[in-house]
Amino acid sequence: MNANDLIQLNKQYAINTYAPNLLLTRGKGCRVWDADGRSYLDFLAGIAVAQVGHCHPKLVAAIQKQAATLMHVSNLYYNENAPRLAAKLVEKFAAPSRVFFCNSGAEANEGLIKLARLWGSASGRYEILSMKNSFHGRTLAAITATGQTKYQKGFEPLPAGFAYAEYNNLDSVRAAITDKTVAILVEAIQGEGGVVPATPEFLKGLRALCDEKNLLLLCDEVQCGMGRTGTWFGFQQFGVQADACSLAKGLGGGLPIGAFIAGPKASEVFQPGQHASTFGGNPVACAAALAVIDIIEKERLLDNVARVGELLQTELRALATDYPWIVDVRGRGLMLGVALNHPAKAFEKVLLAKGLIAIATADNVIRMLPPLNITQADAREALRIFAEAAATYSPA
Ligand SMILES: *Cc1c(COP(=O)(O)O)cnc(C)c1O
Repeated sequence: MNANDLIQLNKQYAINTYAPNLLLTRGKGCRVWDADGRSYLDFLAGIAVAQVGHCHPKLVAAIQKQAATLMHVSNLYYNENAPRLAAKLVEKFAAPSRVFFCNSGAEANEGLIKLARLWGSASGRYEILSMKNSFHGRTLAAITATGQTKYQKGFEPLPAGFAYAEYNNLDSVRAAITDKTVAILVEAIQGEGGVVPATPEFLKGLRALCDEKNLLLLCDEVQCGMGRTGTWFGFQQFGVQADACSLAKGLGGGLPIGAFIAGPKASEVFQPGQHASTFGGNPVACAAALAVIDIIEKERLLDNVARVGELLQTELRALATDYPWIVDVRGRGLMLGVALNHPAKAFEKVLLAKGLIAIATADNVIRMLPPLNITQADAREALRIFAEAAATYSPA
């Protein structure tokens, strides 16, 4: 079947929730190829998923080996990978904690919400306070926690027990806390919301507020976790410790796996029967995540994230001075946003035509999320493409 036939099949038979425009057939490292054999530098990485690049040989081998050994047993039995992965994640979380495995970011956040409600149930508290402009996934509880009405419209009635405050505004958070509030849910760096980092004062202030009012600080690390910012977790950039956090996206390096980690305040909350997930802790997905962590450690990728992130940010800033329509370059590590003073979709298309995949988000921001093992040479090529695109582009 050729590319056009496949695209027509999708248009006819797939539920109409996405509008892709390119059929990708192969990947290696920081590059992907389309059905016509054209190559692209991939600064989306499957939306912050291909953490160690496409088809890293060690990741491929780990998946193949486990798939040929034992693919699934459910949580009614132990498997050889989930316990080791849980121990690894607790080590990175750097506090006595426990891990629950699931399959996606939304499911991980659902778990955090249930954890907080169960933790607060004895004291009659249940309200989750989240941030405007946030993104937490597409299940009903997750779109409700997501502080953007565009994701909620038409799906009412939304579950009760959620409230919102302004990101990077401690007074707003303080004002929104009631005697029903049980937890604050926050991204250390808002991703979908336009790559907006928390200010250190804000995240530290949330930590202090949670201590003062006995609330759980829940960090959504689905996008900014797994080394994306140069530390294992985004909140570690700010010298803050979360009480619990969610993970997914980059955790499996391309296989679907999510998790939440509950620290000392909440690690003993769930008892047998209160939460479950059939695929959670699947041995193949866990083999992938163990390989991803091993590769990040052995190839010293956290250092690479800091180094290449710095290069990209510095060079993009320098470039921006030539173009008044580029109004901001921001982010941490390899989670970068270039904000334009107009919708970024047209510029995204110019970048794509020149061989760079970097996607518009929050209307006017070009988001860059390359694999953590991107080389300096690939980063420089992306910068060259970006500069060329900017030079030929005139905002409408
Ligand atoms: C992508 C994302 C989610 C949702 O993850 P899914 O795997 O798509 O359910 C949740 N939170 C954040 C911060 C995300 O970026």
